[in-house]
Amino acid sequence: MSSTASGVERTGILIDGKWESGNGTFDVMEKFTGKTLATVARASLEQVNKAVDAARRSFEEQPLEPYRRYEILSRASLLVGQRRQELVQTIVGESGFTVSDAAVEVNRCIQTLMISAEEAKRIAGEMVPLEGAPGQAHRLAFTIRVPRGVICAITPFNSPLNTVTHKIAPALAAGNTVVLKPASYTPLTAAILCEILIEAGLPPGHINLVNGPGGETGRWLAANPHIKFYAFTGSTAVGKALHQAVGLRQTALELGSIAATIVCEDANLEWALPRCVAASFRKAGQVCTSVQRLYVHDSVVDRFTEMLREKTVAAKVGDPYNAETLTGPMISGGEAERAEAWVSEAIRGGARLVCGGKREGSILEPTILIGVKPEMRVMCEEIFAPVISIVPYGSFDDAVDSINGTPYGLATGVFTNDLSRALAAAKRLHVGSVHINETSSSRVDLMPYAGAKDSGFGREGPRYSIQEMTEERLVTISRI
Ligand code: NAP
Repeated sequence: MSSTASGVERTGILIDGKWESGNGTFDVMEKFTGKTLATVARASLEQVNKAVDAARRSFEEQPLEPYRRYEILSRASLLVGQRRQELVQTIVGESGFTVSDAAVEVNRCIQTLMISAEEAKRIAGEMVPLEGAPGQAHRLAFTIRVPRGVICAITPFNSPLNTVTHKIAPALAAGNTVVLKPASYTPLTAAILCEILIEAGLPPGHINLVNGPGGETGRWLAANPHIKFYAFTGSTAVGKALHQAVGLRQTALELGSIAATIVCEDANLEWALPRCVAASFRKAGQVCTSVQRLYVHDSVVDRFTEMLREKTVAAKVGDPYNAETLTGPMISGGEAERAEAWVSEAIRGGARLVCGGKREGSILEPTILIGVKPEMRVMCEEIFAPVISIVPYGSFDDAVDSINGTPYGLATGVFTNDLSRALAAAKRLHVGSVHINETSSSRVDLMPYAGAKDSGFGREGPRYSIQEMTEERLVTISRI
């Protein structure tokens, strides 16, 4: 970590462009080795409110024209590319994700900044044909979109650069200012991104960063009346609590899931195989859209299970710094123990282990189960670990019903070559996105992305986030 006069650059609280020490500190561990990576400042209540005040002042006193926002975000995109290596190392260190997963995060961050920059130039309302109403022919009406003000971004550990970028970049593109609280497991990558934005020309008070435990710092942010919008990604339980705490203020909540993928009897299994393995085991399964339940048609389940097993046991597990590793450590030993316990419980209840199941510290082997029951935790709670359950099915409708039977609804993948079945599934699956011939975990940064049911609401994807993060205002003009 570099240092400044205050000695807390990137490990402090960032308010109005200055890094401050906080009210105490907490350690950020390297997830693979367990060594301390950095000691980070914990914000006091006064600092949280000061960060919001800085963002509020900047919004009022230093508004940026759309073209300037475009220039800053484009430049930030270039700077992220220039600092790729440092970002990759920081992501691997603090999250335990493999170098290849970290490289994807950086590539996606570059894209999201660039798309947001472009979108900053085309924020528009629409014409409203008021003159079509009786007695209104003398009037012209249209809407404009105006920034909301201070946006609070609260982000999870499992995408330390992307979830942060997907909130900050559209917020800034729309002309808002931001207070960011990243996950306590992974605050260092977020700090580099803030630094890059300021280097790219963002007026310092437009981006502020506070760290500290969610139950404290997050609650203080929720209680601050000057925040106009909360962009949250994390668990459903915390999302619900935040939603209650902020009252009538707008929120976008990207929450938990038990994502599923269906492999039909007519699927191209060779195409589906690498996608299913990656979507189950990359980032050690800690992705909201990771395949947790894999529905495979009876007629191909034995063959596809064997294909999956072969590919999975051949994958490298462990050292995230090794470019060939597929599955690195989980975020903590405790989380790995929890997932291992759910697997053991399923086996005790009659499930069969196809492969994996062993744990060493925070590294849980990629694990495949079959013969699971709907009431087992591996099936009915979000496991957030490299564990999938294969569910053989006979009727496609039953598989869809079973997927719709959870409280969640984020994304589903369907591998099939039958177009009418694919389209019927797209209509019936109650989820935010349905990906035909891709897994549930397919995401491209420009697309609209949101959950249904307990997976939340409020769309991401720069163009769509900008809609969420701006207010629509109607303007009418009468010819007199
Ligand atoms: P989490 O425990 O809910 O934490 C998310 C963020 O909320 C962290 O910054 C956390 O701070 C903060 N927080 C905790 N309690 C809070 C409170 N009372 N008020 C305000 N903020 C609070 O989630 P996680 O374990 O980091 O992430 C995993 C979850 O995120 C999974 O459920 C996953 O499915 C979901 N997720 C969803 C999406 C999506 O797009 N739908 C994407 C990624 C992840 P601390 O870190 O300090 O606790």
